[in-house]
Amino acid sequence: MDVTHIIDSLNPAQREAVCAPEGHVLVLAGAGSGKTRVLTQRIAWLIGVEHVSPWGILAVTFTNKAAAEMRGRVEAQLEMPGSGMWIGTFHGLAHRLLRLHWQEAGLPQGFQILDADDQYRLIRRTLRELALDEGRWPPRQVQSFINARKDEGLRPDHLQSLGDPWQEQMGRVYAAYEAACARGGLVDFAELLLRAHELWLNNPALLRHYQERFRHILVDEFQDTNAIQYAWLRLLAGDSGRMFAVGDDDQSIYSWRGARIENMQHFERDFPGTRVVRLEQNYRSTGTILDAANALIAHNFGRLGKNLWTEGREGERIRLYAAFNELEEARFVVETIAGWVAEGRARSEVAILYRSNAQSRVLEEALLRERIPYRVYGGLRFFERAEIKDALAYLRLAANRDDDAAFERVVNLPTRGIGERTVQQLRQLARERGVSLWQAARAVGAERLLPGRALNALDGFLDLVEGMAANGPGLPLHERVEAVIESSGLRPHYEKEGNKAEARLENLDELVSAAREYWDAEGGESAEGDILSLFLAHAALEAGERQADAHEDSVQLMTLHAAKGLEFPLVFLAGLEEGLFPHQMSVNEPGRLEEERRLCYVGMTRAMERLCLTYAENRRLHGRDLYAVPSRFIGEIPREYLDEVRLGGSVSMPLGHSGSRGGLAAVEAAGSGYRLGQRVRHPKFGEGVVLGCEGQGTQARVQVNFEAAGSKWLVAAYARLEAV
Ligand code: ATP
Ligand code: MG
Repeated sequence: MDVTHIIDSLNPAQREAVCAPEGHVLVLAGAGSGKTRVLTQRIAWLIGVEHVSPWGILAVTFTNKAAAEMRGRVEAQLEMPGSGMWIGTFHGLAHRLLRLHWQEAGLPQGFQILDADDQYRLIRRTLRELALDEGRWPPRQVQSFINARKDEGLRPDHLQSLGDPWQEQMGRVYAAYEAACARGGLVDFAELLLRAHELWLNNPALLRHYQERFRHILVDEFQDTNAIQYAWLRLLAGDSGRMFAVGDDDQSIYSWRGARIENMQHFERDFPGTRVVRLEQNYRSTGTILDAANALIAHNFGRLGKNLWTEGREGERIRLYAAFNELEEARFVVETIAGWVAEGRARSEVAILYRSNAQSRVLEEALLRERIPYRVYGGLRFFERAEIKDALAYLRLAANRDDDAAFERVVNLPTRGIGERTVQQLRQLARERGVSLWQAARAVGAERLLPGRALNALDGFLDLVEGMAANGPGLPLHERVEAVIESSGLRPHYEKEGNKAEARLENLDELVSAAREYWDAEGGESAEGDILSLFLAHAALEAGERQADAHEDSVQLMTLHAAKGLEFPLVFLAGLEEGLFPHQMSVNEPGRLEEERRLCYVGMTRAMERLCLTYAENRRLHGRDLYAVPSRFIGEIPREYLDEVRLGGSVSMPLGHSGSRGGLAAVEAAGSGYRLGQRVRHPKFGEGVVLGCEGQGTQARVQVNFEAAGSKWLVAAYARLEAV
């Protein structure tokens, strides 16, 4: 096999990493320097040149999508299938292990994955069972407590409260939650990792098997591994495994989820003889974008430090847009995209990044209005939408009757006369007898513990689910999903939902398509368990990465956290305001502020050609009006890299004083008699805010966003607008 092309396009430092002799390698390098590429080429090198079997390779990526891409690249280069390789996220790989070894892991075969939302509900129920007040024990706080302990590898009996009553109580909640999960055969995300770790710890023979198999372990985005993930890797590597990790301390953005930068420092100690390779050439961004990002991140202390340069062109300056409010900000974004598309560029080359998920709504509405197709990564993901979760809950019950979260979700959906009182009684009985809600419902029927009407309704539900379970096996997955949707009565239920009905029904159809795709991809069967359970796990794990129109040329919207590792020719960073970004909760803590700055660095370095930073001087978010000050991060970018722009043309203005409010906003709407952002009342449309103006005198038109009627262009002379 001719494999010279594997290293042809690499620079010397990259080549050193890809072709390193047997041993551990740590690639420490900045954004866009080719870390992911080097990791992919390393796999190709191992297989193509070192004749390692694909079967002996395990690679960890940041998303499932990245895993698929990596596998595709390796296969294309080697012109052979790499099906024996295990490539996936930590969660995906842990899940795979647990499916294969559910018995050794102490799980029921049909165990189901709890996503964050299900976990939250289950925690609330647990608090209720323990008669704890949610005001004093906020479920979100309990949730992060439990997940953080699991990320550290700690079970309830490992906790040492040292007489602290708060800790003690939390420990009790954790234990009760764990018991509820065990009863229902439920595994949350953090549990996947912890269980997979314990699986190996408790089964030395199994561990040995995997250690002998996976001699080559490769990890992307190594800076964001948490304690349990790192422990899992070390266990797998043992004495014979070879680690190849790539990472960038400046891009560590998940410490709030337990990620530990220190893992980068411990690596050399834990894996003796590590060869450290630094990559310094950036291939992604223009000189301006790179220099600006480097200048920003230089404000952080305690960095491992590196030099990043590019041979690429200097490129245009970074555009900075000061919007009056979030609506105008969205309008700028949308118009800039329209201009980009008019230049003949693709929408898929564009990403809009934001700090907080809630920011997406206004941006989405602006895109919808202009009919620009877009996709949202994260946020309300396809598999998180209510109707999808309802349908999945039926499927989950069909797969595992003891799944309490699913039971509660659909026991009376659509309404079938099973009231809250009945459910309360079931909960109580379940608690008393230590059984699942399903079993409690069965007992209630057998012992006739409820009045006749309630019993009939409950029996109807139990029969319905039993019917779904009985009709399932033997059918192709998508037919099974379709049948469950039909018999559940969810369709007629959602048809009644007015203006949202159509989208919901479309989503249900899309679920059937997703099942068909999954069925086809798996070839109709799988060695790792029954296909329905696998599909449900897939739904929980891949939530954000598959959406309706995946093939349409569309703009990408996502949080900064989700953008890690990706690159786009045109990038917007929206909402650069103090309190929003850096986030309010981080501004007073130096450590967290540095993490926000790294997040900004990650965002900026996603851009290849053009970068636009925007902020709004007024913002309505979570229903509150905020008067915002531009983010300090804007002030940390040297002004020679910035270009202040206005809507409707790139009128370049000198910046008064970088990062200050003075002279930044174009608030005057010349000639129209209205100010941008001014509140006005229209006799027919009611109250709204002036968004824009064009033309002069009798030709002048003004755009108003009415609270009830939405955004409209009106001829100023006839509009009879009143200032309010
Ligand atoms: P990040 O830190 O953001 O994850 P990274 O270090 O993983 O970035 P890659 O995504 O691997 O960087 O590479 C960035 C871009 O540079 C990609 O488009 C990649 O194809 C390109 N690239 C990397 N190395 C080279 C090279 N030697 N020659 C040409 N292009 C390269
Ligand atoms: Mg990368």
